[in-house]
Amino acid sequence: MAYQSINPYSNEVLKTYPDATDAELEQALAAGDKLYHQWRNDPVSTRAPYLKKVADLLRAEKQELATIMTKEMGKLLSEAEGEVDLCASIVDYYADHAVELLKPVPLKTDAGNAYYAKQATGVIFAVEPWNFPLYQIVRVFAPNFMVGNPMILKHASNTPGSAVAFDKLVQKAGAPAGSFKNLFVSYDQVAKAIADPRITGVALTGSERGGSSVAKVAGENLKKSTMELGGNDAFIVLDDADFDSVKKVSPQARLYNAGQVCTSSKRFIVTAKYYDEFLENLKAGFAAVKPGDPLDKETTLAPLSSQRAKEKLVDQVKKAVAAGAKVYYGNEPIDLPGQFFPPTILTDVTKDNPIYNEEMFGPVAVVYKVENDAEAIALANDSSYGLGGSVFSTDPRHAAYVAEQIETGMSFVNSGWLSLPELPFGGVKNSGYGRELSDLGLNAFVNEHLVINA
Ligand code: NDP
Repeated sequence: MAYQSINPYSNEVLKTYPDATDAELEQALAAGDKLYHQWRNDPVSTRAPYLKKVADLLRAEKQELATIMTKEMGKLLSEAEGEVDLCASIVDYYADHAVELLKPVPLKTDAGNAYYAKQATGVIFAVEPWNFPLYQIVRVFAPNFMVGNPMILKHASNTPGSAVAFDKLVQKAGAPAGSFKNLFVSYDQVAKAIADPRITGVALTGSERGGSSVAKVAGENLKKSTMELGGNDAFIVLDDADFDSVKKVSPQARLYNAGQVCTSSKRFIVTAKYYDEFLENLKAGFAAVKPGDPLDKETTLAPLSSQRAKEKLVDQVKKAVAAGAKVYYGNEPIDLPGQFFPPTILTDVTKDNPIYNEEMFGPVAVVYKVENDAEAIALANDSSYGLGGSVFSTDPRHAAYVAEQIETGMSFVNSGWLSLPELPFGGVKNSGYGRELSDLGLNAFVNEHLVINA
């Protein structure tokens, strides 16, 4: 019984879920494959009404859905509500735009009339994490539904309630049988499913470890995959930054979702001009939070998602300090029974510190002082990760130049991270490959089928 909801604020076990049987997996594969073959003959537009209904239900059931997420992984209720709104906007976006985005593409050639059609490929297997329990599902579900690729989900073992709620919602929307199925499968069953010919694509969001295990199975079976893995994103403050905007954005860029976002700003790289002031401001922002029950609207610091998540972060900070990092602020235990970790600022993290190249998934900021742009760029790039990052400068050309020097999949100029339905999301290096959302995500598991009439 691996799938269990435990409230990380109260430590209460909310519900334990039975594991999926092999027969249930077979049923899901058969239903998905049957629907894929039927959907191949249906115009893309015929699927839009179901997604519109899913978006309506997400909005109508926002409170219930947000409460489920808050109770099982601890995020602030206001953030959970925002997540449901974002999911509804993603679902709407693909319902409204996929017909246009999936039109055949004419090709210029002297060899004849040529185009490529964008066709479905089959059932997609998605492995998703707990940090945004609904958004992570929807990022794969909505575009693939419009393409005509059914989806089977293996959600994180600590957010099964969110997975069940989404499954019910899709059924309530009247979506065809087989279009979406959540299953509480084991790692072995995931590998078995990926090896099955009816699965044609694999999407995973999670850690490097999980990503590399699942990508290996996908590779062995010649299945296309997309991997959205961790990040150690830089937040770069240049000499010509608007410091008022830096002040406003920086604390939340780290603390949102209790710091458990792959694109959270984790390494703050600040030029000498602003370094001292930056530290003081970040400290003030971190000191202002109010830990407490994430269901309470007054609370501004949520617990981490699980005891395991907290233990990992406690270890990482211990290791960092033992290797010479200085605690500029925080690292004092919070006197509450939940899985809280105090907002903490570390400085003096040198290249030989074991956490220099580790992602810290919680409210811990590492702050570095640099002398100039070149140092900032070199430090930002000295990471095995390459997901996102922020650059602050009032000169758009300067900001764009620095942003483009950073080896990542996403750069946010004068803002913290963001995700919108129409913008691609994904990274390079050990942060993974492929993109979700936007037309790139829509085409991730599409067959670009060349047709030429010579
Ligand atoms: P994992 O990669 O372990 O989990 C993500 C998903 O992958 C879960 O559904 C998990 O299932 C599944 N999974 C992991 N290994 C396998 C496997 N071999 N076969 C099949 N499925 C697998 O991440 P964690 O939850 O352990 O988080 C650890 C770290 O990962 C975090 O500290 C953070 O650094 C990073 N992370 C990054 C995220 C991102 O958005 N990029 C999101 C979450 C975590 P199960 O839950 O059953 O183990």
